[in-house]
Amino acid sequence: MKYLITGGAGFVGSHLAEILLAGGHEVFVIDNLSTGSLKNIEHLKENKKFHCVIDTVMNGSVVGDLTYKCDVIFHLAAAVGVRKIIDSPVETIETNVHGTETVLKAAEKEKKIVLIASTSEVYGKSTKDVFNEKDDSIMGSTTKSRWSYACSKAIDEFLALAYLKEKGLPVIITRLFNTVGPRQTGMYGMVIPNFVRQALEGKPITVFGDGSQTRCFTYVTDVVKALIRLSELKPSIGQVFNIGAKEQVTITELAKIIKEKTSSKSEIVYVPYDEAYETGFEDMLRRMPDISKLEKHIGYKPEYNLGRTLDLIIEYFRKNKDFE
Ligand code: UDP
Repeated sequence: MKYLITGGAGFVGSHLAEILLAGGHEVFVIDNLSTGSLKNIEHLKENKKFHCVIDTVMNGSVVGDLTYKCDVIFHLAAAVGVRKIIDSPVETIETNVHGTETVLKAAEKEKKIVLIASTSEVYGKSTKDVFNEKDDSIMGSTTKSRWSYACSKAIDEFLALAYLKEKGLPVIITRLFNTVGPRQTGMYGMVIPNFVRQALEGKPITVFGDGSQTRCFTYVTDVVKALIRLSELKPSIGQVFNIGAKEQVTITELAKIIKEKTSSKSEIVYVPYDEAYETGFEDMLRRMPDISKLEKHIGYKPEYNLGRTLDLIIEYFRKNKDFE
């Protein structure tokens, strides 16, 4: 098979490319290196079946050529990370909305399968214990830029489903819940790379808010395998799937576990949200996926628990001293 991965030099995209190549497939990547990095795909360059184009996903003619060559498109290119979204809201909205529009338009001509990587953020401010694909999105005010990410990804989902309904384009929507693993950078705000770096450098581990907010972290290989399996099954078309783990941890607990696993002397400090992000910042206090649909559809069973996930990330950061 021939696959196109938009955002293929990013954290998730590079793992996806790696696994597809290992399966003997041909992989085309388009990435503008805004949050992705050539370092992420350095080890793939020697493979003759790997092709990389450095360009924006908003370039219609380049995306059109690549789409023509491929059987399936994984659309992962997006502005990601809470820090990035707050610092660059224009780039976030434009990349997410216009980028997806460009990909869908190109794919529509050839009726290629498009899998959209969306996010648990689309559930917005909902305080439900567990999020099911059919749940409502509860969005925050437009004056709070954090929600622009959730809204832009929700528009992506609407647009993809509209392309299916109106133009018969085979699309699949996936909502990723806190995907983590080696090569994820802390530069755009993600908590685990930040905590691990802080712990290894003996710097204060910065817990935002009161630390009682919870997350379910999913190891990137589990996510990528689920993406591939979903793209292979025809009944996935037109469906929305949560992809995540069920193991829940508070951010304070996470800081303590990382401190212990790294034998760090770092102190754990609490930083108010206003200081960490911007005045009036609203966090999601809980974010647990209902993955029963995914379990039923592909027999999904994550292989990596939180302990193993953290061990692998810590090992990665220890080996790669020039991490960001
Ligand atoms: N967080 C934190 N310290 C950091 C970075 C993040 O306490 O240095 C918190 C953040 O406020 C959120 C949680 O960790 O409650 C997860 O943050 P991340 O940006 O990784 O993901 P998301 O907010 O998208 O779930």
